[in-house]
Amino acid sequence: MNKTVRVIGCGLAGAEAVYQLAKRGFEVELYEQKPVKFSPAHKNPNFAELVCSNSLKSNELTNSCGLLKEELRILDSLVIKTADEVSVPSGAALGVDRELFSQKITEKIKSFSNVKIYYQTVEEIDTTIPTIIATGPLTDEKLLENIKELLGNDDLYFFDAIAPIVSKSSLDQNSYFIANRYDKGGEEGDYINCPMSKEEYQVFYEELIKAKTVELHDFENKKVFESCMPIEISAKRGFKTLLFGILKPKGLIDPKTGKMPYAVLQLRKESNFNDLYNLVGCQTNMLYGEQKRVFSLIPAMKNAEFVRYGEMHKNSYINAPKHLNKFYQLKNYPNIFIAGQLSGVEGYVESISSGLYAALNMANMLKNKSFVEFSNKTAIGSLSEYIATANQNGFQPMNSNWGIISHNGEEKIERAEIALQEIKQKAKNM
Ligand SMILES: Cc1cc2nc3c(=O)[nH]c(=O)nc-3n(C[C@H](O)[C@H](O)[C@H](O)COP(=O)(O)OP(=O)(O)OC[C@H]3O[C@@H](n4cnc5c(N)ncnc54)[C@H](O)[C@@H]3O)c2cc1C
Repeated sequence: MNKTVRVIGCGLAGAEAVYQLAKRGFEVELYEQKPVKFSPAHKNPNFAELVCSNSLKSNELTNSCGLLKEELRILDSLVIKTADEVSVPSGAALGVDRELFSQKITEKIKSFSNVKIYYQTVEEIDTTIPTIIATGPLTDEKLLENIKELLGNDDLYFFDAIAPIVSKSSLDQNSYFIANRYDKGGEEGDYINCPMSKEEYQVFYEELIKAKTVELHDFENKKVFESCMPIEISAKRGFKTLLFGILKPKGLIDPKTGKMPYAVLQLRKESNFNDLYNLVGCQTNMLYGEQKRVFSLIPAMKNAEFVRYGEMHKNSYINAPKHLNKFYQLKNYPNIFIAGQLSGVEGYVESISSGLYAALNMANMLKNKSFVEFSNKTAIGSLSEYIATANQNGFQPMNSNWGIISHNGEEKIERAEIALQEIKQKAKNM
């Protein structure tokens, strides 16, 4: 077999993809711009750099990201296995020594004689060459422009700020009510409204203004804040600012009291998945733990499960449901797969999973074999299915979470077992 595959970008997704292709005997042409050029967030010349936290989140199987990691271990993920080797004590989470992590992955990739490395910035995609694009949320500008042209101009997005998403099933039904402001819109009401009394708002407010936030990089500058103010910054302008803004109660009557609450946080359905709700207007720069602590002070959200936290940083991604199938392959350019954050997945482990899934099927495509398909009962399959089938309008990147994993009402641990059985079965035939 003499098949060449190009991989562009050797971050988390790219490193995984290169490994999966190289170990299957493909000739890999790897293009990575570091150390010739660094994005504003990248500092380490090695591959698979963790740009921010050194945590790959929970290892527990009752956590969907924990399940995703276990699936990746079974599928022989280089990046997750290296994370295990260089882990540092982090409770139930998988924290790593970030320097060792990148160093070991770099050494492994360089050890393959069938991987040729070109340290340069790619500016254009050659659609005749089988290619996995894994250039991440901070893809270099010229390449972004080229991808934009490839996709038809309007389908490459940026965000600077996103609000958290919670699962509806984790909210306290006795505390919220469903209604639209002034009863406008759909018959049943589209919003979940989380009311607060004056005392409850007071407690929420005090904790919000003193919550710890992420330190911003130089490039995440004032512009973000002017166009899309984080909730904690608005709050600092005064006790009542939010009451006239995103927490305003006007037009909302709590059916339990027959009165307008003092403050209301509205949650809006996210995409076409029933269980996921977005905290309207709550883009935030609070640390993840602080987001959970502070928003959980709102009675309806006291046990809220956060399936995605709010963030504020530059992120480029494509309109995945329009352009990708569930194998991370471009519908209009079957030679091209897009993996990592650029594909519309969000998070370290999610990026790794997309690199692995894309590479497996790039390999199968080149061997004229049918594609490996993981069902939406698995964490890896549910994520790719989500991004390929979500609502195209206003599509936003997604983390792995239980809200997108299909089930028949089993407990989480049973769902995890079902998923792992499927993965083990499929791994045998790969
Ligand atoms: C500032 C910031 C903080 C984040 N923090 C977290 C976090 O704490 N936890 C979390 O789970 N997720 C976080 N994310 C989201 C995401 O999980 C990471 O960005 C993750 O690294 C994405 O993996 P990737 O492989 O898609 O991209 P990357 O890991 O960024 O890899 C892309 C690679 O492509 C290279 N490259 C870019 N353009 C070109 C080009 N034109 N030619 C050649 N090479 C190119 C880059 O140098 C880089 O090595 C963060 C993202 C950002 C931007």
